[in-house]
Amino acid sequence: MKILIVEDSRSNLQVLTQYARGFGAEVVPAENGEAAVAAFAATSPDLVLLDVVLPDIDGFEVARRIRGMESEGGWTPIIFLSSLGKDEDIEQGIMAGGDDYLHKPVSEVVLGAKVRAMERLIQMRGSLVKLASELDVANQELQRLSASDGLTGIANRRYFDEHIAREWRRARRNASSVALMMCDVDHFKLFNDTYGHQAGDECLRRVAGAIATSLDRGSDLAARYGGEEFVVVLCETAIGGALIVAEKIRHAVHALNIPHSASSLGRVTLSIGLAAAVPELDDPSDNLIAMADKALYDAKHNGRDRVCRAPRPSVG
Ligand code: GH3
Ligand code: MG
Ligand code: MG
Ligand code: MG
Repeated sequence: MKILIVEDSRSNLQVLTQYARGFGAEVVPAENGEAAVAAFAATSPDLVLLDVVLPDIDGFEVARRIRGMESEGGWTPIIFLSSLGKDEDIEQGIMAGGDDYLHKPVSEVVLGAKVRAMERLIQMRGSLVKLASELDVANQELQRLSASDGLTGIANRRYFDEHIAREWRRARRNASSVALMMCDVDHFKLFNDTYGHQAGDECLRRVAGAIATSLDRGSDLAARYGGEEFVVVLCETAIGGALIVAEKIRHAVHALNIPHSASSLGRVTLSIGLAAAVPELDDPSDNLIAMADKALYDAKHNGRDRVCRAPRPSVG
């Protein structure tokens, strides 16, 4: 343990240094307030023994400056030493950021006991800080897990539901367009039947990856809607721009070139239904999803491996 001892009386300093070394501490001495502040900054002690009456700035001011220098969440115990023993002095010391108060002359036994008590506090505080940071990491991981799909790693349905509700409200406030695509893997039941469920899972992972990497903007979202269906949300995007992104996604899945012998298309392909709209006053986002769903149905019936846009008047 490193102790900064601030004491302008040479003889007192010598005695305190002797005591501190006696119980194994390393000592950094300072004989006035400015020197104490500088020594604190330079040596980062574990504990400060601080005389109140000093030739330049008083101990209370030194304590305030030390508290001001501590890093966020940092704490170094400060014990005041003074022959001033009034209740108000003790109060002022604690208000200035001190943690304890010792009357001079300080006995070796009392000093040793106080230092050990502070040491215990430092250790407990250290474990608490460590625990808090571990909890923080665990919470972040939990949050990530609760928002992501276990199979594909992209956002899950729960996250999508929250996202679309939030973005739909924002778009209503800003009178901006939201585009939504429903993407469905073609003849996927046949893929599972032909290659097995594990190959099916791997296929879904790769399709999800192709969709996600086709999106450029940070505000774009790809999520697994369920089964072999994915949903993409593009904010502040009208139908024209969304069509380009939809074609990019369809091409990206096509380019994976995953063989699908049971499909007339020969490989794994994606059908996409697209809708875009500026939210009206009491228009729920469900309408946008229903429009995209309807467009997906058209894409399936028109031969799959294609993008269809919603027939209903939507903003473009
Ligand atoms: P369409 O082209 O009309 O979309 O035909 P489809 O066969 O893709 O559609 P259908 O809804 O009949 O079948 C979807 C299949 O997706 C059936 C289901 O077993 C499979 N599936 C859903 N979720 C998973 C999954 O997590 N892993 C695997 N391997 N298969 C899944
Ligand atoms: Mg003094
Ligand atoms: Mg489906
Ligand atoms: Mg399908």
